Amino acid sequence: MPRNRRVNRLLALVALVVVSVFIVRKINHSATPQVSQQQQEESLRTTAPKHPGSSPPSPNPLLQEVGEPDGILTHMGDTDRRRANATLLSLVRNSELRGIVRTMQDIERTFNSKFNYPWTFFNDEPFTEEFKRRTQAMTKAPCRYELIPKEHWEAPPWINKDIVAVSGQILVEDDIMYAKQQSYHKMCRWNSGMFYKHPALKDVRWYWRIEPNTRYYCSIDYDVFRYMEDNDKTYGYVINIYDAPQSIRTLWPTTMEFVAQHPEYVNPNNALRWLTDSEIRPNHNAIANGYSTCHFWSNFEIGDMDFFRSDAYDKYFEYLDHAGGFFYERWGDAPVHSIGLGLFLDKSKIHWFKDIGYLHMPYYNCPASKKCSGCHAGRFTDAGYLNRENCIDNFFKYVHAD
Ligand code: GDP
Ligand code: MN
Repeated sequence: MPRNRRVNRLLALVALVVVSVFIVRKINHSATPQVSQQQQEESLRTTAPKHPGSSPPSPNPLLQEVGEPDGILTHMGDTDRRRANATLLSLVRNSELRGIVRTMQDIERTFNSKFNYPWTFFNDEPFTEEFKRRTQAMTKAPCRYELIPKEHWEAPPWINKDIVAVSGQILVEDDIMYAKQQSYHKMCRWNSGMFYKHPALKDVRWYWRIEPNTRYYCSIDYDVFRYMEDNDKTYGYVINIYDAPQSIRTLWPTTMEFVAQHPEYVNPNNALRWLTDSEIRPNHNAIANGYSTCHFWSNFEIGDMDFFRSDAYDKYFEYLDHAGGFFYERWGDAPVHSIGLGLFLDKSKIHWFKDIGYLHMPYYNCPASKKCSGCHAGRFTDAGYLNRENCIDNFFKYVHAD
C-alpha cells in the first residue's frame, strides 16, 4: 500500500476511535444519574435523607471504624473450630455461570478459603456439566447440585391463569419490574417458602444465601455461622431498603388476616413498629395498606432454617400461598421473610452484619475498616437519588434502639 494511503487510513482509524469514545462517554453520562460531590458527601455523613418535620438523620455508623461484632467469636486458629451445620446456598441459572464464579471468587477470598463450608446450588433445570465443573473448580469445599422438584417451583393448581394475565397488566401499568415474567414470580415464591423444604437441606440448619454478581469486599476472619449459633441469633442481613409498594398491595392485609387467626404466633418482643412505620414514607405505607415496605434485602441472608420451618412461619407462608399474591401481585421473598421475622421472632435475634462489605447493584453495605477494599466506606449507592431507598434508620429507630 502506498505510504500516503496508509497514513490516511491511520488518521481515519484514529478519528473513528475518538468519535466512538466520545459517543460512549455521552451515553454513559446520560444513563448514570449525575450526583454532585457535595450531594455524595452529604449522603455519606448521614444514613437517611432529610424529611420535613422528622428528627435529624443519625450519623452513619459505617463511617466509624467497624470491627468484628461483639459476642462469642470463633477464629481460624481457635481450638474449638467445629463447623456449624451450614451451607452456602445459591439458586442460580446455568446462564449465570460467569456471575456466580465471580462471586465465588470473592467468597473464597474473604471467607470460605478459611472455613471451608460446603455449597449447595439449586436450579429448576438440571445444571450443565460445564456449570458443575467450573464452580467446583473455584473451591476446595464440596459442592452439591440440586434440582428443584416441579411441585416446589410451578404455580400451584389453585392459581387462575386468567387472573394472572389480567393482574399482570395492572403490574405493568404500575411499572413493576418483572411484572409478567412468570419465572420471577416462581423464584420469589420458592425463596419465600420452599427452599428450606428441599430434601437436600433436610438435615441442614444454617444457610448463607449468595447470588451471582454480588460482590464481597471485606475479609471475614471469624466463622459467621458459629457467630449466629453461639450468640443465639436467627437472622443476619446487610441492607435494609424500601420495596415498591405497588408490588405488595395486599400482602399486609393478608398478613393481618393470618395473624387474626393465629395471634399465638406473634412474638411479644416483635418488630411490628418497624414494619408499620408511616412517618418516613407515608405514601409507601398508604399504598401497601399499612406496611412500611421496609425489608431486609434478601439477596444476602444468613439464617436459621429452623425458624422458617417453624409452624408460625411455615403456616404463614402456606396462608400467603393460598391467597395467590405471588402470582396475582409480585410479592417478593424479601418482604415476606421480613414480615415473618418481624412478627414471629424475638427482634433481639436479628443481626446487622455491618462488617460485611457487600454490593448487589445498585446498593452497598460498605464499612470503614482496614479489612475492606474496593468499596467506598459509608456509601449506600453510586446514584445519589437512590439514597432515599435506604431504611436502616427506620430499623434502628424501632429495633436496634433498645
Ligand atoms: P433481582 O435481584 O430481584 O433482580 O433477581 P435476580 O434475577 O437476581 O434473581 C434472584 C436469584 O434467583 C438469583 O440468584 C438468580 O440467579 C435466581 N433466579 C432468578 N430466576 C431464576 C430462574 O428462573 N431459575 C433459576 N434457577 N434461578 C433463578
Ligand atoms: Mn439479584
